[in-house]
Amino acid sequence: MSMTETPEGPRKTVYIETYGCQMNVSDSELMYGSLAAHGYTPVEAPDGADVILVNTCAIRENAETRVIGRLGELKRFMKADTIVGVTGCMAQRLGPRLLDQAKHVSLVVGPDGYRSLPQLLDGARSGERFSATDFDLEEHYEDVVARRFEGVKAWIPVQRGCNYRCTYCIVPYTRGAERSRKLDDVVRETHDVVAQGLSEIVLLGQTVNSYNDGTHDFADLLRAVAAVDGIRRVRYTSPHPNDFSDRVIAAMAEVPEVCEHVHLPMQSGSTSMLKRMLRRYSREDYLASVERLRNAIPGLALTTDIIVGFPGETDAEFEDTLSLCREVRFNDAFMFKFSMREGTPAERMPAEWTVPDAVVTERFDRLLATVRGISRENNMTRLGARVEVLVEKVARDGTLLQARSRDFKTVMVPAESAKIGDYLTVELTGTTGATFTGTPVRDRAPLPMASPMASPMVSTTA
Ligand code: SF4
Repeated sequence: MSMTETPEGPRKTVYIETYGCQMNVSDSELMYGSLAAHGYTPVEAPDGADVILVNTCAIRENAETRVIGRLGELKRFMKADTIVGVTGCMAQRLGPRLLDQAKHVSLVVGPDGYRSLPQLLDGARSGERFSATDFDLEEHYEDVVARRFEGVKAWIPVQRGCNYRCTYCIVPYTRGAERSRKLDDVVRETHDVVAQGLSEIVLLGQTVNSYNDGTHDFADLLRAVAAVDGIRRVRYTSPHPNDFSDRVIAAMAEVPEVCEHVHLPMQSGSTSMLKRMLRRYSREDYLASVERLRNAIPGLALTTDIIVGFPGETDAEFEDTLSLCREVRFNDAFMFKFSMREGTPAERMPAEWTVPDAVVTERFDRLLATVRGISRENNMTRLGARVEVLVEKVARDGTLLQARSRDFKTVMVPAESAKIGDYLTVELTGTTGATFTGTPVRDRAPLPMASPMASPMVSTTA
């Protein structure tokens, strides 16, 4: 049944399928919130939904290929009057071309156009087809109440867009220039989150530590949200290595609610490669940022993003990436084979710079083995430590609960020991190399300072 009966009459149902980074997850929560305020009921499956939205990512070619395939598959869930829309970065990038490519799609809406979704859906119901991809640099959706689905933590966007122009990245072209929300608005949303029973927040932005609302910087923001009564953990993603001011590092060090984990995108360990990527820092600058952070925050866990096979990558440049991984000893990394995006500066690089697929694969495998090996070694040294974890969900096997430490370790705990949303102190009793098993302990002895840990993590693109 596609309609939900209410005293006011039937409500239409909406299903949103989300791809890509946490910013997209957060945008889907905003769209659900906006549509719920206009009489739509969120549903968990596309089957027979009145509206199906696919919230897309454009960061890699295979993400887009997947969406095109998925749009075809979704046809079998459509009723005669189902409206299908494509939102997000791929919608922004392709605009009306998507309408030509997929005739059953009625709407193509970029990240700054979600406010008009209810009206666009009304138009689509009368048979119109739209592409809405104008940027709106004032748009922060302040009056839209997000519908959150993740149980124990809230993702709060604090900044949209990006002012960097890394040569491989499509984000500045799909999300426009950087702009920050007002600090008071973020604090108000943090109060709302606490009222919903959540105690952990993750501040989101493409280069989140460059946050500046004209009056307040990211250090002010960290201190302000952490001061909200009921907030126990504050995280953020993703920072840019160049935007760690002394003030931001001091706030991280001084505010107990800010967790001891930084996802610090590196992309390459070679200064010449970083120059071609227009990352605006050298290997030495990156190492200096790591050192400043580690000196200020004992036990800081560091994770990163690395691209393999960017145009012109030489053996020596790749070796620099491996050696930087060994030097920093990351807790974990997102590793990607370079994917050329139409419209980025990398597209204009000489064809002879293209790294052959076989070379990219061989390098990728070596990098993976190096990063995983370091991560395993780091984790082995932590066995026996006691850490605070927040229970997030039932683990995939159904018999354990999955919890998260402050420094972003994934820890499996027995199902009978807690419920979702509980904080526990656990002793780390085993590791698979990537994740831990933990046994709850009763005493509340002071926690030993955590050392760098490995775990899966969420990434945006900075
Ligand atoms: S990689 Fe990050 S910092 Fe660079 S352009 Fe993309 S979003 Fe901006």
